[in-house]
Amino acid sequence: MEGSQCLPILQHKATLTKLVKDNVFLVVTGETGSGKTTQLPQYLYEAGLWKGGIIGITQPRRVAAITVAQRVSQEMHFTLGKEVGYQVRFDDCTSQATVVKYMTDGCLLREILADPGLSQYSVVILDEAHERSLNTDILLGLLKKTLLQADKGSKDGSVRLRVVVMSATLETDKLSTFLGHCPVFTIPGRTFPVTSRFGNAIGPKEVDSSRYVNEVVRVALEVHVSEVAGDILVFLTGQSEIEKACDMLYEKAESIDYRYDVQDQTVEGLLILPLYGSMPTDQQRQIFQAPPSGIRKCVVATNIAATSLTINGIKYIVDSGFVKQLNHNSRVGMDILEVVPISKSEAQQRAGRAGRTSAGKCFRIYSNEFWEKCMLDYTVPEIQRASLTSVVLTLKCLGVHDVIRFPYLDHPEERLLLEALKQLYQFDAIDRRGQVTQLGRLIMEFPLHPGLTRALLKAAAYGCEDILLPLAAMLSVENIFIRPGTAKQKEADKKQRNMAAQSGGMNDFATLLSVFQWCKASDSPSAWCKENWIHWRALKSAFSIETQLREILLRLQQVKDFPVETFAGNKSELFRRCLCTGYFTNVARRSIGKIFSTMDGHGTAVHVHPSSSLFDQEAELDWVIFHDMMVTSRVYLRTVCPIRYDWVKDLLPKLHEVDAYELSNIAREEVNEEELAKLESKEAKRQKDTAKKLEK
Ligand code: ADP
Ligand code: MG
Repeated sequence: MEGSQCLPILQHKATLTKLVKDNVFLVVTGETGSGKTTQLPQYLYEAGLWKGGIIGITQPRRVAAITVAQRVSQEMHFTLGKEVGYQVRFDDCTSQATVVKYMTDGCLLREILADPGLSQYSVVILDEAHERSLNTDILLGLLKKTLLQADKGSKDGSVRLRVVVMSATLETDKLSTFLGHCPVFTIPGRTFPVTSRFGNAIGPKEVDSSRYVNEVVRVALEVHVSEVAGDILVFLTGQSEIEKACDMLYEKAESIDYRYDVQDQTVEGLLILPLYGSMPTDQQRQIFQAPPSGIRKCVVATNIAATSLTINGIKYIVDSGFVKQLNHNSRVGMDILEVVPISKSEAQQRAGRAGRTSAGKCFRIYSNEFWEKCMLDYTVPEIQRASLTSVVLTLKCLGVHDVIRFPYLDHPEERLLLEALKQLYQFDAIDRRGQVTQLGRLIMEFPLHPGLTRALLKAAAYGCEDILLPLAAMLSVENIFIRPGTAKQKEADKKQRNMAAQSGGMNDFATLLSVFQWCKASDSPSAWCKENWIHWRALKSAFSIETQLREILLRLQQVKDFPVETFAGNKSELFRRCLCTGYFTNVARRSIGKIFSTMDGHGTAVHVHPSSSLFDQEAELDWVIFHDMMVTSRVYLRTVCPIRYDWVKDLLPKLHEVDAYELSNIAREEVNEEELAKLESKEAKRQKDTAKKLEK
């Protein structure tokens, strides 16, 4: 195994440390795997920088934050959670002793809310800046805004907080210019040539992505039997595809006869390992270990293996050409997780993973024509394609009123900003003047979607948080229901249908709640899950999330003006009414047959997804609310429940009440407090004048 002693970054230890010490902003770039993420924080620790405040390193992905923190604590011989720790949403593994802290960019954004000067920190490292995640982009803008101002103001020239931006690609000029022309340090690295070969399974006419799982499996096996020793890294899209591919690989690899079938006679077996976001960490450890001699390792991963995590020994890449991405879908007006072709730069990054320690090969399953016609040159930054609702609320809470003129590295589309303002207004998180309301501040306290938080707060006001807290937790974890996809599928389906019926039927939200409650009440929750085809790991996280949400709620309820209301109806109605306050933006009404139409002004024709307990019962339905959508050739509603028009009647006008432009214009004027004061005194004068006139 390659030790940290021979990483390219080591030679530059002194230079890098000095550069960080002397500058407010620094950009560091270098090939993936050169040691930026794991080594630089250690150098800064050794240099004693932690004495002036902790060293924080952000990652766009939670698995990366956790995995890297584990690795670094190991390298430094510390117990994880002591000197070196991590914090990600719903999982805090830090303590008083923590001085090197890996975290998600979302966590740091939340910390800025509580402490805009980040007074705890001496260095903040924004890692993986090339990923251009929404939160990292916002952090860049915020830190630029505060630090460039503070820098001008500091008299003795001393630096309190330093910001290092690390990126794997060479788009560093742009970053440096953005950060006031700060210095750039490039870690020189050596890479070996990688030859890439196109396939013909995916062409421009069949962007239909369903074929890619079968094809990557076929190609990976071909590599295994025909290429010399060296590990394989397969890039796929998400957990279910990865699990499916691993099952297929496992099954097919069984029938290989190593005496006759393989070209390289030193290869005697295949070790198949999945790698995706919500994987248990003990399983992840294996991925980094060298396989036993004679065994070829094959890692099937999401994009996380492209730059965030480096696996040593990879010689072959199998690239599906696709990625799962959150995109704002203007057809339905919602963010949707979609499988889309990767960009050319992403494809090059993937291929590069094969040439770290020796020459490598990359097998692309898509054709050259697909590359030319379907793949963009660069990936569009998240800020230009995803919903900005939470981010805009964060900015407003930080006192950034004019979200349109915020210093963005790449400006988001105005339409996305307007959409966010409108949605915040609909949730009563901001008022007509674009100011954050009391409810808005409460919403901000929860690491959840604003709509879901609003429903939760409504329930809390009615004193029935016990039903919304578990539900919010269940909606915050992925994949509760196991879909074996094999012969066992029927059995799993039956169990799941039974559970839906037992929870009262015809309400997917209630099913989730019941699953939570049943599992919690059972003697052996893990056995219960196994029996009912439920992912135990997902449920375990839901339990922990529920506790954390409850703690936040309890803390807020101590504040004296926490809203309180009364309700005199039955429980099922109360539950659904609470949901309506957060989901009235997701209302649909049945038009004809099985077709529904959304009520948010888009009027999209939608269907109930076959996995819903309402599927095939459409005839009995009129109005429904839903948690999310899935877009294929049709638009499907997922996690659905029937409601009555009465419950949303007063809320629906809010969807059309205000023009988004109006909100943004007011928000823009808002910066000018003077103008506002003038306007207000003018208004006061006018009223006085009228009063005088009336007196006469
Ligand atoms: P960079 O951030 O520049 O891409 P890293 O600091 O992530 O580089 O990786 C440096 C080296 O540390 C790589 O060789 C990588 O394989 C190794 N490494 C990182 N994490 C682990 C881990 N969990 N287990 C074993 N090796 C690791
Ligand atoms: Mg890194």
